[in-house]
Amino acid sequence: MERKFFPATNGVEFGIACRAVMVHRICDKCEKGVMGPTGQTIQTGPQSMRMLHKCSECGHSESYDVQYPKLEFVPHVQGAAALDMMRRHRKNKNSQQK
Ligand SMILES: [Zn+2]
Repeated sequence: MERKFFPATNGVEFGIACRAVMVHRICDKCEKGVMGPTGQTIQTGPQSMRMLHKCSECGHSESYDVQYPKLEFVPHVQGAAALDMMRRHRKNKNSQQK
């Protein structure tokens, strides 16, 4: 079975392998094109701005709080399974030291 986690070398740190996912935004108007950043920003408040995007197909423009495409990391295991993995890892580590 593939080992989906790796023990980090530092103190109580614990690493879980992730896969990277590039998230694209489909155009709300034509639902065919993908929204790409124009490089322009729109000030929406004293400390907030939105990023202007343009559809690759119909040219529709839309502004979002984030820039697309965006990179996300999805862990192979999450939530309770990740906690369980961490506990087992620490247990094994402690028993090796004795
Ligand atoms: Zn479009």
